[in-house]
Amino acid sequence: PVVTRFAPSPTGSLHIGGARTALFNYLYAKGRGGKFLIRVEDTDRERSTEAAVQAIFDGLSWLELFADEEPVFQFARADRHREVVETLVQTGHAYRDYTSAEETGALRDAAKAARTTFESPWRDRDPNEGDPAQPHVVRFRRPLPGQVVVEDAVQGTVSWSTSDLDDLVLLRSDGAPTYNLAVVVDDHDMGVTHVIRGDDHLNNAARQSLIYDALGWTRPVFAHIPLIHGPDGAKLSKRHGAQAVHEYAEMGYLPEGMRNYLARLGWSHGDDELFGDDQAEAWFDLNGVGKAPARLDFDKLAHVNAHWIRLANDDRLAKLALDVHLSRGHALREGDEARLVRAMPFVKDRAKTLLELADQTVFVLAARPLPLSEKALGFLAGEVAERIGRLRDRLALFASWDVFALEAELKAFAEEEGVGFGKIGPAARAALTALAVSPDISRILAALGRDESLGRLDDALQ
Ligand code: GLU
Repeated sequence: PVVTRFAPSPTGSLHIGGARTALFNYLYAKGRGGKFLIRVEDTDRERSTEAAVQAIFDGLSWLELFADEEPVFQFARADRHREVVETLVQTGHAYRDYTSAEETGALRDAAKAARTTFESPWRDRDPNEGDPAQPHVVRFRRPLPGQVVVEDAVQGTVSWSTSDLDDLVLLRSDGAPTYNLAVVVDDHDMGVTHVIRGDDHLNNAARQSLIYDALGWTRPVFAHIPLIHGPDGAKLSKRHGAQAVHEYAEMGYLPEGMRNYLARLGWSHGDDELFGDDQAEAWFDLNGVGKAPARLDFDKLAHVNAHWIRLANDDRLAKLALDVHLSRGHALREGDEARLVRAMPFVKDRAKTLLELADQTVFVLAARPLPLSEKALGFLAGEVAERIGRLRDRLALFASWDVFALEAELKAFAEEEGVGFGKIGPAARAALTALAVSPDISRILAALGRDESLGRLDDALQ
């Protein structure tokens, strides 16, 4: 069975690059009845923080990318890592290196000057000459001469000559296991079959493959995916704007919109642009991952998100829009949420983000009496005011308060008055919304509900 994992280092919030890596791993596993796991790579004690761990989990939960098992914390497994290093020493694939840090530095400089690679003198020395009680590091003894060949599912066949690598430190002098060793042991112990990650880790795949081979463990399939670039084609950085997933949440994107967009970022399934989770799971394949860096495209993201807003449930959208209103300082009133729910069918076709959804529903939540402009008050004088008064009285008796019935009722009213609706619309709109542009009057009435609608008309006619 397929097992994938997302292995973030908790040194900051979840970035969209990481989110996309997590999504690809998730989709690959789910589409194959496999498992998706999370491993927190918290071995860098200086840079790892509890807040970052939380931020990453929050980002993943927002995206609804849940792991199939409890997360693994890498640092907690240090004893197991040391045990495997010991095995490597026993089998001759690793050796204790007692060279001091200064000596190592000097040897490195000398090797550099001679254009050779640094080799520790302990690589070929009799291990019995050393005293394991003395300070030392443990290094991997790479096969020399040799080739490492990685059949990468995205990059194709990539090979390295082992003479271009060095004897990697597996255990530092303080006994701390190093990154590449820990990744191999954890992936093996977690049963990971496919490692899908950013191509900045491609060189690590060479080192890790050698460790797998030395341990006699089966290597996972590696798939190194190109990084995400900004709209200008440059590597994604702060100056491109939002990088953290929570910023996208704050900009009003829906998690399903984000998933749909991220799935298309560097992977494609023909020309399919808009698709849901089931399709993404069924279609996602490493063959469809491109070798060129994907570019962020905010217009496309907005387009995808608009699609998911249109499809979203009105109750849910109303809650999300209300959150935006509240975050903007709106003071909650009774009935706000119900009014928003009723308004959703009329505004959600025109919103690309939840922020726009909130913008378009400001009138729905406006507190009475509405602040009417001079212009609006101008509409509401004399004959027109009398007509709006008659409309108000008629609506007060109207039994059915749904949008279609209201539309028919407004039409009948205009006919009775012997005027086109153009003589009624602007004044009614001003009274009901204090806006010059808004959805149709029947929709406004339906969204506001009877009491609020009549109240606003009364206010305007005072
Ligand atoms: N912890 C690494 C990172 O955040 C990922 C390593 C891996 O996926 O193997 O870049």
